[in-house]
Amino acid sequence: MKITKLLAYQVDLPLHEGRYNWSGGKSVAVFDSTVVRIETDEGVVGHGEVCPLGPVYLPSYAAGVRAGLAELGPHLIGADPLSLGALNRLMDSRLKGHPYVKSAVDMACWDILGQRAGEPVSTLLGGRHGEDVILYRAISCEAPEAMAARVADYRAEGYSRFQLKVGNDPDTDIERIRAAAAKLKPGDRLVADANTGWLPHEAMRVVRAVRDLDVYIEQPCATYEECLSIRRHCDHPFVLDESIDDIGTLLRAHADGAMDVANLKISKFGGLTKTRLARDLCVEMGVAMTLEDTWGGDIVTAAIAHLAHSTPEAFRFTATDFNSYVTRDIADGAPRRKNGRMAASTAPGLGVAPRAEALGEPALVIDRAA
Ligand code: MG
Repeated sequence: MKITKLLAYQVDLPLHEGRYNWSGGKSVAVFDSTVVRIETDEGVVGHGEVCPLGPVYLPSYAAGVRAGLAELGPHLIGADPLSLGALNRLMDSRLKGHPYVKSAVDMACWDILGQRAGEPVSTLLGGRHGEDVILYRAISCEAPEAMAARVADYRAEGYSRFQLKVGNDPDTDIERIRAAAAKLKPGDRLVADANTGWLPHEAMRVVRAVRDLDVYIEQPCATYEECLSIRRHCDHPFVLDESIDDIGTLLRAHADGAMDVANLKISKFGGLTKTRLARDLCVEMGVAMTLEDTWGGDIVTAAIAHLAHSTPEAFRFTATDFNSYVTRDIADGAPRRKNGRMAASTAPGLGVAPRAEALGEPALVIDRAA
């Protein structure tokens, strides 16, 4: 099989809640997502999606996806989408770094492979574990009482895992964590995700001030070394996210005992192929995972569902259903949250069919080899 055409579509994804706020006053109102469509000489068509969390979360940005695809795309014409290892090596040999650019291409090729095999991507990634996947709800940074109220509201929707966006003023963050923790019920899990927002002295104050609470601490500081230092001074379960962006950092963090949970985002690693490797290493090393992406709509959510559903349940700390945060449905067949959980599609491939009217005209069409 050969890739004959690559198209990219720009899609705006507004939020039901209007805005999403996280550390350092950072905020997004409308997410800028890119859907990739890959056509082949055998008529099989695959789709992928990538959506950076704005331009200042990771070294990635929405327009950079499209610019990167314009650079990379001509090298993919004529390549075999079924040979995912070779395809990833080809992408890495033609564009150094920029894993997020490659993520939607790799995802679309998994969709093609699944359709060709007649199997859902979750089967190809290792097989389904359990009936469904437990989701977490990210709680946008607001005043402490408003965030605590959200915990109760989201529990009413079926969620039992709550990720508070903190990483702003440490005194208010302590109040945020305390107010939210007061709303927890048995079996709930609370994560305080500072998204690199605290300096080490601030992080030290926060973890001391909430020491009596059952709360996970996620990525308190900007650098790996700063996070490791906080980790060694606190006894909360500890999650690393922004610092874990490739296999090398994952192995180093495990060797240093720097985390209990790793947050694996598909586009951070550059697609499902490399995230599967990270996932499988975490299972071997005994590290639980949050399985997700930097944001997205129906196609990203479908890919997360396949990755998470094919991960042994004991290692699935949680996952995300981004398509329930945004107001636009861009594909049919995507998983829909039910009682705080979602299940991967059992249809071949990713199991999604993008809606032509939601995608509009392509922002990029590549049908000639480099
Ligand atoms: Mg995080």
